[in-house]
Amino acid sequence: MCGIVAYLGYRQACPIILKGLHRLEYRGYDSAGVALMNDGELNVYKKKGKVAELENFIAEKDTHARVGMGHTRWATHGEPNDTNAHPHYSTSERIAIIHNGIIENYAALKTHLQQQGHEFHSDTDTEVFVNLIEEIQQHNHCNLEEAVRLALHEVVGAYAIVVMSRDAPNQLIAARKGSPMVIGIGDGEFFIASDATPIIEYTNEVVYVNDYEIAIIRDGRLELRSKEDVEQTPYIQKLELELDSIEKGGYEHFMLKEIFEQPRSIMDSMRGRLEMNAGHLNMGGFRAYEQKFVNAQRIIVVACGTSWHAGLVAEYLLEDLARIPVEVEYASEFRYRNPVITERDIVIAISQSGETADTLAAIELAKSKGATIFGICNVVGSSIARATDAGAYTHAGPEIGVASTKAFTAQVTVLTLLAMLMGQKRGTLTDTKLRELMVELDTIPAKVEKALLLDDEIRAIAATFCDVPNFLYLGRGYNFPVALEGALKLKEISYIHAEGYPAAEMKHGPIALIDENMPVVVIATRDSSYEKVVSNIQEVKARKGRIIAVVTEGDDVIRDMAEFVIEVPYTSEALVPLVSVIPLQLLSYHIAVMRGCNVDQPRNLAKSVTVE
Ligand code: GLU
Repeated sequence: MCGIVAYLGYRQACPIILKGLHRLEYRGYDSAGVALMNDGELNVYKKKGKVAELENFIAEKDTHARVGMGHTRWATHGEPNDTNAHPHYSTSERIAIIHNGIIENYAALKTHLQQQGHEFHSDTDTEVFVNLIEEIQQHNHCNLEEAVRLALHEVVGAYAIVVMSRDAPNQLIAARKGSPMVIGIGDGEFFIASDATPIIEYTNEVVYVNDYEIAIIRDGRLELRSKEDVEQTPYIQKLELELDSIEKGGYEHFMLKEIFEQPRSIMDSMRGRLEMNAGHLNMGGFRAYEQKFVNAQRIIVVACGTSWHAGLVAEYLLEDLARIPVEVEYASEFRYRNPVITERDIVIAISQSGETADTLAAIELAKSKGATIFGICNVVGSSIARATDAGAYTHAGPEIGVASTKAFTAQVTVLTLLAMLMGQKRGTLTDTKLRELMVELDTIPAKVEKALLLDDEIRAIAATFCDVPNFLYLGRGYNFPVALEGALKLKEISYIHAEGYPAAEMKHGPIALIDENMPVVVIATRDSSYEKVVSNIQEVKARKGRIIAVVTEGDDVIRDMAEFVIEVPYTSEALVPLVSVIPLQLLSYHIAVMRGCNVDQPRNLAKSVTVE
């Protein structure tokens, strides 16, 4: 959510910043802006809309600068417009700021600053922050870094900020608490960004800034200080991200590319973990906490959105294979509910970005009650990866499309491995059953590959339904979370209202919606609830609902009942979500394209939700 890019070095800053903002576009935003230091002048240009509009706006301006910063805003305080876009000047226009996050006590600070004579032009909390810095600087006669440091003691909330001042033209000051920030170190140049994607084409040496740290870039060096003004040693890491992996590679959209990458990404998430030759499972993060997992009395999964759906699949997996009670919680509800958590609980936190604000807060809460925290995220070095006791990366590679696809299947793969490992260690899974599952899991990438061949067929189905206003998705057992995920995908990118339901619950409400205009996607693969789902299909058919059924190859029972049948390869019940979700991803993708929607950056959505 929201992107930050800043540059200080020997090259032209503006093109680097704009390119970086494009790379961060996948995060979702509503306006964009830059601040450039040119000959002692600190110029700010900003525009509502896409980065391309900002580019048009500044095309005729003098944008020469070796120091600058840019921002894509995702509005939290004040509507998306030119004025509320970042950067924001302080009242004197000597200081400018870009900010990701929310300042919770902005109203009280604003009143105080207005009394001190500061003027405000926007509705943002960010403008309060920059004026607070200015007020502290004027009042204490201190330098900018000291003013930023003192301001951090006053603000409550989440932030990643970069600050520039006309009085110190060759300097960038940055700080963070709860919002992501990484600094790239090149040869005589520095980059600051919300994630590494704007940086990797210039350098692979990066420093992840920690909460409450202040970074000062000047005189060719990076200095890190704590909020208490103690110098910190920067921990320089080598990035392994390839530029190719963040570009579209011939596909029309990132989402389609990512859907088609799944055979590979699922394989990557199993690599080194599913060892068929040696005949065993391996997961570094699990090993260190094996006894905790064996003795745990309960697992609590905390997550949001698609990750929450992966968590629901985990509930079926863990209860089924490891015989341990599982609760799956929306992180945002969990953190404010005064939940009962004990030291024998294991909390599994799932997040693609590893920056999800609510999930991070849920982790902190569970930690404070003594639970063991296991993180599952995709972005290496992310806040969740650093905040948890142990964990496993999903290794799906960068996911740029806002609607998650390969990250979901990678999360489910890792959770499947975890459930199998737990089942093995807790003695609830026999060697034979474990071996069977391993053999089957090994075939999943090929089965996903096969499911992807349905693309043309699904595009034709999409053409039939692209103009409908509503969709219903039904599934049972392991396919219930898949129904939820299918409905979410459609909502997110096509703006069609869609509901996912456990198929049997249909009778308790949604059946009232069914008539000859209602498309109902039923996931009816061959598993223990197959017969029941067939009955549910009959119920829909009796009310003239238009049935699109996802079935196991060779099923000719449902063929006679459904308007469309999508056949996916057979797999064991516990692994079925990895295959049955594929046609649903493709269906929502094609419908969205046919409706002319912005598939990779759907309106109002952000890739990494760093505000609560
Ligand atoms: N709260 C700030 C605003 O509304 C920053 C939002 C963001 O993270 O982009 O302007």
